Amino acid sequence: MANTDPEIADVVRSELGRLRGGLQLIASENLTSPAVLAALGSVLSNKYAEGYPGRRYYGGCEFVDRAETLAIERAKALFGAEHANVQPHSGANANLAVYSAFAEPGDAVLAMSLPHGGHLTHGSKVSFSGRWFTPVPYHVHKDTELIDYDEVRDLALLHRPKIIVAGATAYPRTIDFAAFRAIADEVHAILWVDAAHFIGLVAGGAMDSPVPYADVVSATTHKVLRGPRGGMLLSRAEHAAAVDKAVFPFTQGGPFMHAIAAKAVAFREAATQEYRSYARSVVENAAALAAALESEGMRAVSGGTDTHLALIDLSATGVSGAEAESRCGAAGITLNKNSIPFDPAPPAVTSGIRVGSASVTTQGFGTSDMALVGSLVGRAVASDPATDVGRKTLQQLSEETAALVSTKPAYPRA
Ligand SMILES: *Cc1c(COP(=O)(O)O)cnc(C)c1O
Repeated sequence: MANTDPEIADVVRSELGRLRGGLQLIASENLTSPAVLAALGSVLSNKYAEGYPGRRYYGGCEFVDRAETLAIERAKALFGAEHANVQPHSGANANLAVYSAFAEPGDAVLAMSLPHGGHLTHGSKVSFSGRWFTPVPYHVHKDTELIDYDEVRDLALLHRPKIIVAGATAYPRTIDFAAFRAIADEVHAILWVDAAHFIGLVAGGAMDSPVPYADVVSATTHKVLRGPRGGMLLSRAEHAAAVDKAVFPFTQGGPFMHAIAAKAVAFREAATQEYRSYARSVVENAAALAAALESEGMRAVSGGTDTHLALIDLSATGVSGAEAESRCGAAGITLNKNSIPFDPAPPAVTSGIRVGSASVTTQGFGTSDMALVGSLVGRAVASDPATDVGRKTLQQLSEETAALVSTKPAYPRA
């Protein structure tokens, strides 16, 4: 590529350098294997294959059919699901397909409030979900910062939603899927679990599976699961036809066969003992990081984490989420500002940050490294770049960060 397109070759090289040179704490990101990247960069990208294996609208699908069948069979085995659709281009596309399969425009959908951790596709006005459907938001409890299951039930009885959604983008705790199932049954609603964030923990046995409880589970394949950027749907057999039609032809055209092959690779990797111990380490590392940040004077929302991510309340530091994100960036640490429940600050500022352990665990970091990571983040947040001493500290921290990641680099040179 360096000869044919030096500009883009330089972008790719620079991004690899960025991944190797800093700490990646964005909770929704991971570092895929070379085998996943090889499938993504393969000739399968060329193939049109509208339809499903054995039922295509194009000729020449004999090989891509094998890839998609392998992906489907591996997903079903990995998650114990009756049906799998591996075609959604992304998590948001998978979610659009869920609405298409199970609701009509205007229907009420009960989901986690966005400022309390829900996703844009759970009813935000800036997404199709809030424009075309009637969102009913539920919340976390003010004292415990855990999902308020009493409120979920009360709202379900009051609004009789077509769909109830469990799952979020910034919720650090396990979810009581059985409680959601009982509420859905009581009001005859579809139970949809959006497992975009934590499906990788489920794959590795580090979190209880929503599959036995949910009518449909949507997920991404690129977060903890460590596959290619993409989405998928798991469902009960009775919903298989509705789910498949909702993906193609209702919301998508030709599937990305290179991405589907890469999903198959990731499912195979996730079925190994090695991945199971990875998933366990991800959870241990997130807990260690949350504890380290608490000892730096920050507060972990809900008191900690059961998953790969922690939501950190910075109120006691007097530093906003936006400032913290930028200070950490200057120290070579990539993370994101995030609203905390009942956040008095606007979403562009926030009083919190979200941190995740998936990428650093892939690099081989353990709990003792996480204590050091917590100290780097704590010192970066406390360093005001408007002052000479702050700027100097951030410079020194970026050197410490580079030294730490060089011990266990991302994508180590062979
Ligand atoms: C990440 C995420 C999505 C969207 O996935 P994309 O691939 O970014 O479209 C949907 N729902 C939840 C809960 C998520 O965390």
